[in-house]
Amino acid sequence: MKQRIYNFSAGPCTLPLPALQRAQADFVDYQAAGMSLIEMSHRGKHYDEVHYAAMANVRELLAAPQSHDVLFLQGGATLQFAMVPMNLMTGGKTAEFLNTGTWAKKAIADAEKIGATRVIWSGETENFTRIPVKDEYRLGADAAYLHICGNETIGGIEYHEYPNTAAVPLVADMSSHIMSRPVDWSRVDLAYAGAQKNLGPAGLALVIINKTLLEKCKDDLPAYLSYKTHAGKDSLYNTPPVFAIYMMKLILEWVKSEGGLAEMEKRALARSGAIYDTIDASEGWYRCPVDRASRSRMNVCFRLPTEELEQKFIAEALEAKFSGLKGHRSVGGCRASMYNAMPVEGAERLAEFMLKFKKDNA
Ligand code: PMP
Repeated sequence: MKQRIYNFSAGPCTLPLPALQRAQADFVDYQAAGMSLIEMSHRGKHYDEVHYAAMANVRELLAAPQSHDVLFLQGGATLQFAMVPMNLMTGGKTAEFLNTGTWAKKAIADAEKIGATRVIWSGETENFTRIPVKDEYRLGADAAYLHICGNETIGGIEYHEYPNTAAVPLVADMSSHIMSRPVDWSRVDLAYAGAQKNLGPAGLALVIINKTLLEKCKDDLPAYLSYKTHAGKDSLYNTPPVFAIYMMKLILEWVKSEGGLAEMEKRALARSGAIYDTIDASEGWYRCPVDRASRSRMNVCFRLPTEELEQKFIAEALEAKFSGLKGHRSVGGCRASMYNAMPVEGAERLAEFMLKFKKDNA
């Protein structure tokens, strides 16, 4: 490999090179065991160390308190769209939602199949360009929980502060901004995330659940679909996705060695700031469709004056070794996804490329 490309894909996405290299070096003969990690029993000493170290890394980096359990599941964030209502819709209560875009909608659609739901705010008429402020919605007296999507990966909008739901449990899909900033756990009762952005390879989903909420979860679910099954067995009820968990362990070790979430947040601000500043300074040539206060630090969405120019931009960017800049097919335009492993320099180079492209094409 001559040069590592700047990969702006929304996920799977760029991962820290030191973690990839470490996995490569350790792959065939894991710790001189005469076999690789993915050939070993998940009940043996080597995997045991990986499993609990990965869990400890999650806890330490996110400062997840002992009041919360950390679970490793499969099925991506998508299975959580169903597992959350299956486990949490109890006592005839209603699941409430803030509808901020594609991913919130998917969570709503699955919950509707499980039980009573209510959307208490929707950004649909505004094309999902912003996160609601607290006075715009009111929780019902019969709310089982409030579900939010912390960062809408496709629309490029992000909560910079989570709602304070008081006694109503808050459930947050953190798939595309977990580990990019500290979390206030006093506000979050259940967080879930597919791994393939800031945690590791696809195939693993992380769930962090308040134990008080866990105790109230449904008891009569099929084994895999019940949070209680996994919590009671330290996520070793069945065979976990061992390689994905091992990769997450390495990636989180890298995050720690780089300075943890405070540093990740600083870098996220620097990266996204470099692109937003370029957009804002372009006198409307580049346009960000998103409300300024809701701009995502992970997924920067932008438009060019025409679709033809957008296609040219994406093609020329790829030639210049910037990949993954095409917006999601459902919304079009361009999108630069910049997760933890994207160096600040990558964003700065992209900003320079944007300036030059404008100069050549405006
Ligand atoms: N939620 C968000 C915010 C996402 O970005 C995604 C995937 N991009 C999902 C949920 C679905 O995740 P998965 O593909 O892991 O099921």
